[in-house]
Amino acid sequence: MNTLGRRQFLKLAAVLPALAALPGLARATTAPPRVVVVGAGFGGATVAKYLRLWGGNIDVTLVDANARHTSCILSNLVVTGELAMSRISLGFHALRTRYGINVLQGRALSIDAPGNSVTIRTPGGNQVLPYDHLVLSPGIDFSPAPGNWNPSLTPHAWQAGAQTTLLKNQLASMRNNDVFVMTVPKAPYRCPPGPYERAAVVADYLKRKGRTGARVIVLDANAGITAEPEAFEHAFNITHAGVIEYYPNASVESVDSATRSIVTSAKSISRAKVLNYIPDQRAGAIAASMPLDSAGFVPVDPLTYGTADHPNIHVIGDACAVPATDSKAVPKSGHMANAEAKICADAIIRLLNGETPDEDIATGSACYSPITNKISSWLSANFAYGDIFDANGQVKGKGMHRVDLGEAASDMIDGDSYQDMFKWAESLFADSFG
Ligand SMILES: Cc1cc2nc3c(=O)[nH]c(=O)nc-3n(C[C@H](O)[C@H](O)[C@H](O)COP(=O)(O)OP(=O)(O)OC[C@H]3O[C@@H](n4cnc5c(N)ncnc54)[C@H](O)[C@@H]3O)c2cc1C
Repeated sequence: MNTLGRRQFLKLAAVLPALAALPGLARATTAPPRVVVVGAGFGGATVAKYLRLWGGNIDVTLVDANARHTSCILSNLVVTGELAMSRISLGFHALRTRYGINVLQGRALSIDAPGNSVTIRTPGGNQVLPYDHLVLSPGIDFSPAPGNWNPSLTPHAWQAGAQTTLLKNQLASMRNNDVFVMTVPKAPYRCPPGPYERAAVVADYLKRKGRTGARVIVLDANAGITAEPEAFEHAFNITHAGVIEYYPNASVESVDSATRSIVTSAKSISRAKVLNYIPDQRAGAIAASMPLDSAGFVPVDPLTYGTADHPNIHVIGDACAVPATDSKAVPKSGHMANAEAKICADAIIRLLNGETPDEDIATGSACYSPITNKISSWLSANFAYGDIFDANGQVKGKGMHRVDLGEAASDMIDGDSYQDMFKWAESLFADSFG
């Protein structure tokens, strides 16, 4: 086994993903160990692939409720009609045929942790899958909305697919002087820059379509812009001045989808043309059967992504809470889910071989945020395992500490970044699903 190669790869996890076919590690002479992965998004697809690439004869079953994964990454450009839906639709064919992963379409209903099995509802009936290790990467679910929210009338489009198409059609129906209202959920939520990016590209769309007097009203539950503040202040106040209105500290008090009306602590709107309500978020339902932190996500050991009560149940991606100095520092992003998946795969292989997890690990994430259909901003953050600190600067334990943060200054928001965004996304898609 090329341990050095895998370790170097994990240390490089912070940079752009790359394909790496390494020789298998686990070579059991008895029945192969079984790993079940729930959720075939950026976290789940990647952990399944790398368990097979690095782990040799591990029997990997990847379960997803859908026959294909629809990526949230780039989905705001589907809303504005820049990209076709097919561009963000990712299949599981390569995972099946290239890596020998058993892909099962079905919904995980419940976990029997003492019995090491998970029950899956499939079109052919319930199946109980035994496992040695279970990895959960179910993404997010939504906290209950105050009032009468019906996502079929007022979409979130924060899980891509039918919701993306619905929001796209509603945006296309806007005319002069119409109002597009959107909310920004309380952090932590999936993709910190994502809501601001959406506001920018929707404003750009309305301008390009000549919708005179049409506006985008952003109601942010947070005290201010939570990611890339310089870039988005520039986007809201200069690039899209007069089109975007931004209100911080706008906690949602009630939503009424029938009338597309919303009441918040900062501003209330009645009868918007489009109400894009993005609710507060928490771990996907199947992971919510694990102990949760106060924000509704699953605390994990950053060396294995195992949970405190069940070290052989691992939670990665948006659903997990990674210990850090600032609990919101590790972003809930597809790139981060991909990096966590590789650390989790490596740790599972080590544990199956009776070894201890590697402590020399790093994760990272990049995000590109289109501001118009020609220019993009970007953000990158890298993390390494080590001491983490409390508010008084005292060591509070071990976790992932941020070693650098890069944000595009306003003069770096340009066409080159817009083109880099597609290269970066295709690379991530291929590393997770190809
Ligand atoms: C508008 C927008 C833009 C974004 N842009 C970026 C970006 O530029 N860069 C970036 O890195 N990230 C971006 N993200 C964030 C990124 O999409 C998520 O962080 C990422 O998808 C998280 O991966 P995951 O594996 O945790 O969840 P997901 O990728 O959502 O995958 C979860 C999967 O689990 C399945 N599932 C859930 N529950 C069950 C169950 N019980 N049984 C079976 N299957 C189940 C779902 O069907 C789904 O396929 C963006 C998000 C949004 C909304």
